[in-house]
Amino acid sequence: MGARSILTLRPTAHGRGARAKALMRPMGAVAVRIPHRVSTELGHVFPSSSPRLFVHEGARQALERRLARALPWPVSLSVSDNRHGVITHEWDRGVLIVRAHHMFLDAPPSIVSALVSYIAVNDRDASSRLGHFIEANSGRLAPRSRTTPLVTAGFHHDILSIFNDLNDRYFGGSVTALITWGRETKKRTEKRKAIRLGSYSASERLIRIHPCLDRNWVPRYFVTAVVYHEMLHHVFPHRAGSERRALHPAEFREREREYRFFERALRWEKAHLSRLLRA
Ligand SMILES: [Zn+2]
Repeated sequence: MGARSILTLRPTAHGRGARAKALMRPMGAVAVRIPHRVSTELGHVFPSSSPRLFVHEGARQALERRLARALPWPVSLSVSDNRHGVITHEWDRGVLIVRAHHMFLDAPPSIVSALVSYIAVNDRDASSRLGHFIEANSGRLAPRSRTTPLVTAGFHHDILSIFNDLNDRYFGGSVTALITWGRETKKRTEKRKAIRLGSYSASERLIRIHPCLDRNWVPRYFVTAVVYHEMLHHVFPHRAGSERRALHPAEFREREREYRFFERALRWEKAHLSRLLRA
């Protein structure tokens, strides 16, 4: 199938710009900013934001030491109350910068081990255990500051039930992304040239599905394929600054084919492209 994507039938310059912008959006407030020996030496600048949460420095250091012992790299840990990046990590000049939600400061040892495996080797099992832990502690996440409500029940398709089925079947319930129908745009005067059926915003941890799919002639297995693709974007986060083709690395494409109606969905898409463009 080559580089064919269910996400974008025909990538446009506009689409690329929109995605790049989404990736550059800051990840949200970091709760505390704690100077750290390694980071001070390297002159790190952490995102400046007003602290909203007091975090026990001893607990932070203990978790940082635990990570540093288990990982072969220098580690700098900052603690956040950011609901969208419950765990993030990135490299900065040889130091692994880990941001973790404060729920991990008093997590049981098994969860800390899972955190280590997840960061070290992106272990699937560990990721699933962390997902359950985060879900169980979701009451500790800062309240959502969304301005537009999430809409999952369509006229013909309930994308939350599709999402939940996929999460159970293919991800062991570990996907913590949110999902919504995108908003219907104004009446068009011209026929669309391309359409983006789904998108994933890492900063909002939100999957959006194009409302043109909420039609009685669009089969559920096709909507499911689009949702599944976007869930994989949550599982394989795109690293800012990497090339566009890295959006769908080989591992991503392999996982995409695991969807039982993958080929059927591609055939349906091909056969109904022009109808979707008019929808
Ligand atoms: Zn994609």
